[in-house]
Amino acid sequence: MSRSFDALKPYLDRAMAMQSALVLFEWDDATLAPKQAGELTGNVISILSGEYFQAVNNDEVKRLVKECRKDDTLTQVEAAQVRELSEELDKLDCIPKEEYQAFARLTSEAVRVWTEAKEQDDFGLFAPTLEKVIQYKKKFAGYRAEDGQKKYDVMLHDYEPGFNMELLDQFFETVKQEIVPLLRAVQNSKVLVRDDFLTGEFTDEQQERIGRFLAEYVGFDFSKGVMAVSAHPFTTNLHNKDVRITTHYNERLDSSLFSIIHESGHALYEFGIRDDLTQTLVGQGASTGMHESQSRFFENIIGRNKSFWLPIYEKLQEAFPEALTDIGLDLFVNAINKAAPGFIRTEADELTYSLHVLIRYELEKQLIEGDLSVEELPKAWADKYEEYLGIRPKHQREGVLQDIHWSQGSFGYFPSYALGSAFGAQLYYHMKKEMDFEGLLEEGKLDVIREYLREHIHQYGKLKDSRTILKDTTGEDFNPDYYVRYLKEKYQKLYHLEKEME
Ligand code: ZN
Repeated sequence: MSRSFDALKPYLDRAMAMQSALVLFEWDDATLAPKQAGELTGNVISILSGEYFQAVNNDEVKRLVKECRKDDTLTQVEAAQVRELSEELDKLDCIPKEEYQAFARLTSEAVRVWTEAKEQDDFGLFAPTLEKVIQYKKKFAGYRAEDGQKKYDVMLHDYEPGFNMELLDQFFETVKQEIVPLLRAVQNSKVLVRDDFLTGEFTDEQQERIGRFLAEYVGFDFSKGVMAVSAHPFTTNLHNKDVRITTHYNERLDSSLFSIIHESGHALYEFGIRDDLTQTLVGQGASTGMHESQSRFFENIIGRNKSFWLPIYEKLQEAFPEALTDIGLDLFVNAINKAAPGFIRTEADELTYSLHVLIRYELEKQLIEGDLSVEELPKAWADKYEEYLGIRPKHQREGVLQDIHWSQGSFGYFPSYALGSAFGAQLYYHMKKEMDFEGLLEEGKLDVIREYLREHIHQYGKLKDSRTILKDTTGEDFNPDYYVRYLKEKYQKLYHLEKEME
């Protein structure tokens, strides 16, 4: 171990400990904390955040990082941590402290304003605050941009290193050219897919029991993880021996089931991170897109696959006898794959999902790099929904006000959601060449699939970026054609489009 890194390590350990505490409070706040805890716990969180910031953002750490960067005896893992930290410090260093703090205050205010505007269904309430958020984001990106780099590319890099507008334009153009006509064909198809039986009066206990079974079945390890209820499902982790998922229960029986499989996919990534990486700056998933690729891989490619349900469908029927006793496996699998345009991204099916993301990508680009004004945003949003999905939102809460991301200043985040699906499809077709994928599902041997993903993806944490992982695993750089092929194969079959599409 290198001596410069030895000196840096206690600072890193301290920062990670603060971060673990912060994560635990966030989790608690969303799940178990009593209503009135908010304000006083907020004080604790604010002190801990300050401590985290101080642990790494001080002169001694900056000096040590400089030393480490010159040190060629660093191990690969040490060098990766130094790289992450110095990127983080550079980011903070180029922003004047007053502006950084003002922005932190602005975004916490913006989330409150957005919540209110969504409740009132009034974009006008949110517009002036959103305008300020965008101005700050553009200013910060300008500080950080390297010679000639576009501002939106700076923002994209934060979520998906290795991707920029040039690559994403190609990706989303493919999505637009291929998926929009496919959706039209699905809508014009005479095939009616029944899914009425998925809605009913199911108790939380009933849903939780089968949900826990499914989590365990896909590999969620309850000796290293817990599951709770929150308004919006999410996954969080302290380290690879403590990963936490949440779900919510409602009148759709597939809603909690697939959210549990989705979050379990995120959790498996975190369980799979190597012991020497966990609790370090490189001990998380490679990127938001790669993380989403794992959750969506389990939710969709595995979870909506007939072969997955074959060995366990009877168990599901027993869990929901009132709904499923008379419903055969084929009817059920068709129902969970039904495609229909809707307004809400988080409730979208696999086919329309990426179109929701395409719209956000195009609008963000125009807001940051083009001349779209905040005032024009609701109309631009509705126009694009009409153009790509064939529906026009009547309310702003189901239109431009539906997502929290912009109020938090998370510009550049959305593309990861679609990239995740596309990464997953590329991995899927490669894995089919290496193993009898569907055969393994039919035999319930998910451990073979899980182990493959752990070996090629999970274990590395942030040691590799998403494009490197794809190249090393599939022998090919990111290629969106697999995603198009996956959706075409699935929906042409389900909606009997084979003849019309050829
Ligand atoms: Zn997710």
